Amino acid sequence: MYVKYMNSNKLFEKILAETPLTKAEAISLLSNETDMVELLSTTYTLRKKYFQKNVRIHILNNSQNGYCPEDCHYCVQAKDSKVPIEKYTKKDEDQILQEAENAYKKGAFRYCMVFSGRGPSKKRVEFLSNVIKKIKANYPIEVCLSPGLISKEDAKLLAESGLDRYNHNLNTSESHYENICTTHTFKDRLDTLSNVNANNIDICSGMIVGMGESDKDIVDVAFKLKEVNVKSIPINFYLHMEGNKLGKLPKVSAEKCCKIVGLFRAIHPTAEIRLAAGREYYLGDMQSMALMAANSLFMNGYLNIKGSDIHDTIGMIERAGFTVDADIDLSNLKESAKTVAALDAFNTSQLELKTKEELYPINA
Ligand code: SF4
Repeated sequence: MYVKYMNSNKLFEKILAETPLTKAEAISLLSNETDMVELLSTTYTLRKKYFQKNVRIHILNNSQNGYCPEDCHYCVQAKDSKVPIEKYTKKDEDQILQEAENAYKKGAFRYCMVFSGRGPSKKRVEFLSNVIKKIKANYPIEVCLSPGLISKEDAKLLAESGLDRYNHNLNTSESHYENICTTHTFKDRLDTLSNVNANNIDICSGMIVGMGESDKDIVDVAFKLKEVNVKSIPINFYLHMEGNKLGKLPKVSAEKCCKIVGLFRAIHPTAEIRLAAGREYYLGDMQSMALMAANSLFMNGYLNIKGSDIHDTIGMIERAGFTVDADIDLSNLKESAKTVAALDAFNTSQLELKTKEELYPINA
């Protein structure tokens, strides 16, 4: 017992010194022997050093929903999914520019566009390139794009248009990938990140916890993201909806989820680490503990699924002694927010899909 304690102390010292961990050391952080509170109090020192006590709030905004030919088993937009979501094809240029203007006027420093699908066609890349140029010419706002797989040439075009950030999640490890998708590979996703990185566009990429992965899979994802110089890491937690191909899987405990978030902070001291979809269901009242490692979260629900109420989210952040660092005018959202469920009563049977109006939060 004493030897174990000494070992973990040395590991925590290594984390504090920002000395790269070995994979074996990283895996040990997720084991039962690691004390979650000690891990989080260690990662809190790093989190505070780079992000103080701020919690950055992000809101997801879909530009195309459904109609995806891919079969990502966890996704309600996948071709095999039976989940009854609202589908719509790409918004037109005027709609997107209007949303960007609204986002800017509400104080946003970044406007994000999310498109379902395998990846953009040449025509779509040209469309996006023109839209990005117009947004950048008219508003001093950062632009983030999440359109799927992309080639180096197409990434170059987007970079030349002024794109600041590209989101494309690895989701899980290479060895677990075939269990969650068969229409594209882990390598396809990694190639996209390399193509984006080669064009000096900031990368946002993370994982989904709770899809039957092992501790080694989680560590493999965290290490792989280091190789592509990731700047922003969303940590999602798998939400089963009736009709998901992946089906219902055992729930990862809140304690383990906190250790996973701590592990990502230990490996990525300076990256923005975000509690994303499913944070309410998996972490519950431990979300404020997870903020000792994470410095950011999604609010107002996820692409197709409602999340916890804005008042609950902000209250949770402030009660825990953190400071809300929003890039949008929260007063507008406070008026339109709907309570889905109290956090302590949140469970997947209460998950609700967003309505069409709720899929367009900026226009709502
Ligand atoms: S490519 Fe994207 S939208 Fe399509 S099924 Fe996979 S995760 Fe869903």
